[in-house]
Amino acid sequence: MSTNTAHLLVSYPVMETFYSIQGEGFYQGHAAFFIRLGGCDVGCVWCDVKESWDAEAHPKRTVADLLQEVRDSGTEIVIVTGGEPLMHDCTALCSVLREAGFRLHIETSASSAMSGEWDWICVSPKKFKAPLGDIMQQAHELKVVCYHPSDLGWAQEQAALSAPNTLLYLQPEWSREKERLNEIVQFIGKNPRWLLSLQLHKYLGVR
Ligand code: SF4
Repeated sequence: MSTNTAHLLVSYPVMETFYSIQGEGFYQGHAAFFIRLGGCDVGCVWCDVKESWDAEAHPKRTVADLLQEVRDSGTEIVIVTGGEPLMHDCTALCSVLREAGFRLHIETSASSAMSGEWDWICVSPKKFKAPLGDIMQQAHELKVVCYHPSDLGWAQEQAALSAPNTLLYLQPEWSREKERLNEIVQFIGKNPRWLLSLQLHKYLGVR
């Protein structure tokens, strides 16, 4: 059995899959197919997908099954998110989808060991479980969610852990957007390496 044939049989707990527009960060506005893996041990108090936390609560799906759905979606970009996708060994999923010609992005808190090969790594570090330094150094973009005014100072500490060419985004937490937005705009004025990320999909009322 070849490696990728074996990889097709590997399964992951999948909370949901869907086609949408990437609403956040550098790829905002791009069409993408999302795979949301179940399981997260980070415990953000403001998490808007708490139902993802228990991996056991989500059915396991094979890579072969996911590959077929990605192909049917007609998109080029696949975004693997969670939950915390790096709680799973993503090697098989990445290997098969990359060989099939798809572009692979991951959204991670960087709090579990890296696995898989990615075209784009978006790290959204969280105070609740520290990010791993080696993943911070690999991040193409750093996206810090701002829930509390002190998160701006914390964001600077996280940026210092990333590579010099990592793109830096500040994103107001959705339930605190009105409170945080003005602070972020003022902060970016004084710290122009940082950019604003808004959750476009939530404004549009899409997933
Ligand atoms: Fe929720 Fe993401 Fe935080 Fe996990 S890392 S608790 S999924 S916001």
